[in-house]
This record gives sequence, structure tokens and C-alpha cells, in this order.
Amino acid sequence: MIALRGKALSAPLEEPLGHTVWKIVDVATANSQRGSRAFVVGEDGEAPEGFDLYLTRSCGPSAGKGEAVLRLPPELDYLSGDDVISVSDDGQRVRVLWRHESRQNSVLLTERCNHYCLMCSQPPKTANDDRLLAEAFELMRLLPRGTSEIGFTGGEPTLYGQGVIDLLRLCRNLHPEAQVHVLSNGTRFADPEFAAAWAGIDNPNMMVGIPIYGAEPARHDYVVQAEGAFNQTIPGILNLAQLRQRIEIRVVLHKLTAPALPEIAEFIARNLPFVYQVALMGLEMIGLARANIPELWIDPTDYADELVEAVTLLDRNRIHTMIYNHQLCLIPRSMWPYTVRSISDWKNEYHPECVECSVKDECGGFFFSAKYKVSEKIKAIPGEAPREPALLEL
Ligand code: SF4
Repeated sequence: MIALRGKALSAPLEEPLGHTVWKIVDVATANSQRGSRAFVVGEDGEAPEGFDLYLTRSCGPSAGKGEAVLRLPPELDYLSGDDVISVSDDGQRVRVLWRHESRQNSVLLTERCNHYCLMCSQPPKTANDDRLLAEAFELMRLLPRGTSEIGFTGGEPTLYGQGVIDLLRLCRNLHPEAQVHVLSNGTRFADPEFAAAWAGIDNPNMMVGIPIYGAEPARHDYVVQAEGAFNQTIPGILNLAQLRQRIEIRVVLHKLTAPALPEIAEFIARNLPFVYQVALMGLEMIGLARANIPELWIDPTDYADELVEAVTLLDRNRIHTMIYNHQLCLIPRSMWPYTVRSISDWKNEYHPECVECSVKDECGGFFFSAKYKVSEKIKAIPGEAPREPALLEL
């Protein structure tokens, strides 16, 4: 697992930093940068003058040519030129906002939410965190031209109303070629004015990922712990569809949703056939999911039939369907072509069984949080794996 936050090894800064978001430059990138910059000192200890903040690695030289020097904790020693970080005013807390080498950066916009999903990986908080939106604006300005993918997540980003619309418009203006993905529970789009404002961003590369956890209100509302949610989310999706917006439907699979997967697939095929894609997601054992393991855990092999039925139905209706966060040895081989290696690199791990597995390079592996709960049926697949569809013996 790659750390995305850490505490500085250096003492608090005497003067508060003037701003929060810093783009890192190193010797290789120092001459081609703009915006707020922090220089990361290399192994030779050389550092040019003129930077407002100097970063030194945990066991590197301590040199720095300014007043503000921050020694990174070992887990953040990997930071290098073109990464973007947020630093607290006293120089003590560092959060990684963007890793230039990763294609799986996700920008957290808020931890607030109007739902309280039983399996939420980012349990909602109530404190005002508007600073995250302000950081995201700054981040957009610091990202290099040609950035190819940008993901936004929460909490519920649409709680910002016009604020998130403005951010996404800035994103489109500065990074018109980037594929933009926004996670939302979809309820805000039931407001036609907000849906119209969303469409007004006019970004053909933008897609919103909206979860559905049932084919009827009771199951969905229970999973998201919000009465009336289904009856807002579905009209919201329909509003977006009328405005020709790209929509992804997400279904997180657990004990409460997996048995209903064929019904959910049929609901999508009958009522939402216009969606751009459907993502069937494995459960991440973190946040509230971890607290609710007894209510949520189901071994993926126990919903194999439902998975096949749902994917077959969606496929027959020409709805692009993907299976995220699943291990190949736990799902029928006929489902392998639908799998995506989707677990973000910074939280991706493998099981000891995987060492000898012939399909490890094609398998998504595990969330680091799988240590809290994992199937007992993980089993290395020996030799050359046949690619033709066939049920895997477990
Ligand atoms: S043994 Fe590991 S690498 Fe192989 S399919 Fe299972 S989870 Fe994937």
C-alpha cells in the first residue's frame, strides 16, 4: 500500500505557510514549472534558491535554502517532481493530492454526505470541509496540460451545488482532453435546475457514476440508510439521460445486494438502457463495511450464479458491463472477460496464494483492507489458464 498522508519529521515551522497546495519540483523539472512550488532536495543536497518550501527525504540530506524546510516521513519519500501535496500551515501534516505517475488519482471533494451507506468506505462526517473544494480548484490549475484522467469523489460532491459545477467547468477548460469521472449518489440530479447546470458544463468526456442497490426503493433505501433516496436517484438519472449526459451505474456487491443482482440488472435493462456502462463492484472492507462485516460479508463464490445471470442479461441488452475488485479464482471463468483491474495502485495487495498463480498479472488482487475479511477459497490457478469461457472449479 502506498501512503497518501504522513506527519513531517521536522519541527513545526516558525512562520505559517502562505498557502496549502504545493506542486513539487525536483532538479529535472525545476525550470518548466509554474504556480505554487515546493522543491524536493535530491541526494546530493543541492537545492536552488527562491522556493517557498523545501522538502527533504527522511534519510536524505537536510539542506534547504529557505526558511521553510519540511522533512518527509519515510512513507512519503517516494514523492517527486510533478506530484502535488497539501501541507498544513505549520508544515506538520502532508496529504498527497496527485501522484503524477499514477493513473488512479482520485480527488476527494468532501467527506459530507446525505446518505450513510452501510458499506461506505469513507464514513460521512458533518464538519465543514469546504477547504477540500478550494484545494481541488488549486489542483486543477497545477495539473499539467495533457492530464488524461481525473476522478472526483466524496462524500457527496454535489452537496456543493454551484461550487462543484464551477470546479468541473474549470476542469473542462484547463484539461479538455481528460476523461473525468465523478462519483455521486445521484439524488441532487432530481432537481432539474441542477441537472441542467451539470449538462451546461458541456464536457463530453465527463461521466457520473451513480449507485443503485435495489430494483425497488426498500432495498436501495436500506443500503444507503436514507428514506426516499431511490425515488430521487432514479428521477435524477432520468433527468441526466434527457440531457444526454454520460452515466455509469455502480452496484456494490454484498450480502444485501448480491442476491438481488439479476433483478437489479433487469431493472437497469428495462428502465435505464441508455446508461454508458454498468460496474459491478466487489466490497472494500474499510470504513463502515468493516464495522458491518456480519451483515454484509458474502463469499463471491456464493453469488456466482447471480453474477453470471446479471452480466448475461446486461450483455444481451448491449449494456457495457464491467466487474471491478474481484479475484479471478473466485468467479466463473466465463466472467473473466468482464473483469477490470480496478483496485487503485496505492491500496492494491496480493494474497500469499497469488505468488504461484498463473493469472496474477491479469487479476485485480485485493484491497489492502482484505486483511479484515477475505474468502477462504482463494486458490492459485496453475499453469496456462484457458481463456475460453468455462466454469471454474473451486
Ligand atoms: S490466486 Fe491471487 S492472483 Fe490468482 S486469481 Fe486468485 S486472487 Fe488472483
